[in-house]
Amino acid sequence: MRPVIIGSGMGGLAIGLILKKNGYSPIIYEKDKKYGGSFRSYKKGKYQIDTGLHMLTRGKTGELPILMKKYINPKIFEKHFVLQKHYKFHINDQGAPLPMNLSSLKNFPLLNAKEKTAFLRMFIHFLRLGRAGTEKYPNITAYNYINNKGFIASKKLLILLNAFSWMSTGCSIKEGALERFVDTFVRDKKLTGKYILKHIGPRADATEGDWYPKGGLKMVPKYFVNEGLDVKTKSKINKIYVKDNKVYAVKVGRKIVKTNMVIYDGLVKNLNKLIVGGTYKGKVPKTEDYEAITIWLGFKEKVADWDKESRVYCMNNLHSPHWGVFMTDFDSTLAPKGHQLFGISAILHKDKKTLVKEMEKTIEKMIPNYKKYVDMKYIQVNRAEKTLQKANNSMWNLPEQKTNIKGLYLVGTDTKAFGSGGTMCADSANRCWTYIQKDYKD
Ligand SMILES: Cc1cc2nc3c(=O)[nH]c(=O)nc-3n(C[C@H](O)[C@H](O)[C@H](O)COP(=O)(O)OP(=O)(O)OC[C@H]3O[C@@H](n4cnc5c(N)ncnc54)[C@H](O)[C@@H]3O)c2cc1C
Repeated sequence: MRPVIIGSGMGGLAIGLILKKNGYSPIIYEKDKKYGGSFRSYKKGKYQIDTGLHMLTRGKTGELPILMKKYINPKIFEKHFVLQKHYKFHINDQGAPLPMNLSSLKNFPLLNAKEKTAFLRMFIHFLRLGRAGTEKYPNITAYNYINNKGFIASKKLLILLNAFSWMSTGCSIKEGALERFVDTFVRDKKLTGKYILKHIGPRADATEGDWYPKGGLKMVPKYFVNEGLDVKTKSKINKIYVKDNKVYAVKVGRKIVKTNMVIYDGLVKNLNKLIVGGTYKGKVPKTEDYEAITIWLGFKEKVADWDKESRVYCMNNLHSPHWGVFMTDFDSTLAPKGHQLFGISAILHKDKKTLVKEMEKTIEKMIPNYKKYVDMKYIQVNRAEKTLQKANNSMWNLPEQKTNIKGLYLVGTDTKAFGSGGTMCADSANRCWTYIQKDYKD
């Protein structure tokens, strides 16, 4: 019997690829007319835009590139998945690339010596905390933890950390989960002085390589599917049938498909609505339907030349952080020759009209008279990740990939996995595969 994967988001595709390369023949059912879930690109006039502003992290060492290098030709990866420069941080009119190591921190003009010392102490502390594990602090907010340790040396530092929180957790630092601030990937490493130096020394790169695929975000799912994955689009799964606490079939449209393995990439909070003959009893993420807003602008001529310093801009005041990218700096083919494609995103945490006005004010500040160059404008709103990483909904409160029902597994960004977005999808698929190997070893 073929394993059935419900949903073709990056979580579903990642476990699909792992199963396929390990001798299974999975079939992926996707209710939408295109595969990829939140990892997609589409045309707006002559421009190609993505499902929101994406910048993939851990291009050098993360779960997603490791998976792709292992199962998809590594040469393709090297050629098409391009490492990018780092975030640039702005407070009012002053901007500078975010420090990624000790040398760049030393030269970072936006913080004074006292603030830099606090920042460095916090960075080293977080390396240690990542090693020790944050699960001891399951419900503490990032702000409470950092503030109690005395690392918030000034309002400027708070603005910086708060902007990071909005981007990585979807909420302010006063609500955000602690582990998003901590490098949980150091868990298995020995924290020697040499190791710490490797993380802060002159060649260190705190993000371990931000990357973006040539040809746009859609290229990531495309490379997975090109490995021969069987994806049936416009195929909604309506039911998962369970008997004696084991899955035995799913219903696609009117068709019943027999299977002894179902992997679910949809929202965990909707899972029980699909199950007939049993109940999922695991954790259900406290998902709030939180959304991101992106203003896409096509410029008919070159309006800015930011790429000399860095490519991603984190624009800020304490209450409304938003961040923008000239996508054509990543890949010039996303726009007609000589044009520029710009995207600016924020979490939709307040009235849309007010937020759009604030974001437009920022654009005007960065690119004076920008409106006269615009030949495409599109405002996009979509779910940024399937779960909001608030302190009370941190990864320690998210469900395991294995469920109480035999043969039913979970993947995706509302399950317990490290990282964020694409990294989390790949990590969840790896964890799911570990369970499947044990459960189906005969
Ligand atoms: C604005 C924005 C910015 C982002 N920035 C980044 C970033 O910079 N870096 C990063 O790594 N990530 C980023 N993300 C997050 C990332 O895109 C998502 O976390 C990730 O793509 C989610 O993948 P998933 O597989 O968990 O779920 P999804 O992509 O939601 O996939 C689930 C799929 O299951 C299908 N499905 C559900 N129920 C059924 C059913 N009953 N039958 C059939 N199909 C079903 C859905 O249609 C969907 O296609 C961003 C997202 C947005 C919107």
